[in-house]
Order: sequence, then C-alpha cells, then structure tokens
Amino acid sequence: MQPTIFHKIIAGEIPADIVYDTDEVLGFKDIHPQAPTHILFIAKLEKDFVSSIIDITDQTAHVPTKLIQAAKEFATEQGIDGYQLKFHCGKDGGQEVFFLHLHFLSQQSL
Ligand code: 5GP
Repeated sequence: MQPTIFHKIIAGEIPADIVYDTDEVLGFKDIHPQAPTHILFIAKLEKDFVSSIIDITDQTAHVPTKLIQAAKEFATEQGIDGYQLKFHCGKDGGQEVFFLHLHFLSQQSL
C-alpha cells in the first residue's frame, strides 16, 4: 500500500497544524476548513490503521470510538460545546484520503 498524506503527517514528513496529540491519536487542522474550527482526528498506531469505515473488522472496530473520545476530550479542553462529527465512507461517500479520519466541525473558533 502507498503511504497516504496522513501517514506522512504522522511521520513528520509533511507539516500539519497539530492541536491534539496523545500516544494513540493525532488531531490537526484541515487544510481546507469547512467551518471556523475544522479538525481531523486519526489513529497514530500502525495496529490501528484502517483505510475507511467500510473496511472496519473485529480487529479495528475500536478505532472509531477512540477517535470520537479524542474529539470529545479536545472539545472539552477547548471549551467548545457544539460541534459535528463526520466520517466520509468510501469514494461515493466523499472520502478522498484512505486513512480513517474523523472530521470535527464547529462554528466556534479556537
Ligand atoms: P475526506 O474527504 O477524505 O473525508 O477528507 C480528507 C480531508 O483531508 C479534506 O477535508 C482535506 O481538506 C484534508 N486534507 C487533504 N490533504 C491535506 C493535508 O495535506 N493537510 C491537511 N491538514 N489536510 C489535508
């Protein structure tokens, strides 16, 4: 498999505006924001890699929950009390980067 742009962000090979970073999850600003706050959350560990919700298996079923928990923690840290969480699932679902990511959108600014 070819590394995606998000693999390169985790490896530090391309820059990103990182706003949330734990051992397991990275959150960074979307390069083309669709709301005043638009963050992408991804799983950092290789064992948690999954390309899309469509490809989730029993082994990776915990990953979306991890991303949602990270988003919730981020919102609490930032004092953001209203937001949308979205997964684009597959090409026909608008997914362009095949590295599972959770979109966090809020009308509140950071
Ligand atoms: P998708 O459509 O796959 O759910 O969303 C991919 C998202 O990644 C898009 O919102 C797009 O703007 C964002 N994106 C694509 N390339 C980069 C990049 O190099 N850096 C950052 N920060 N975001 C990116």
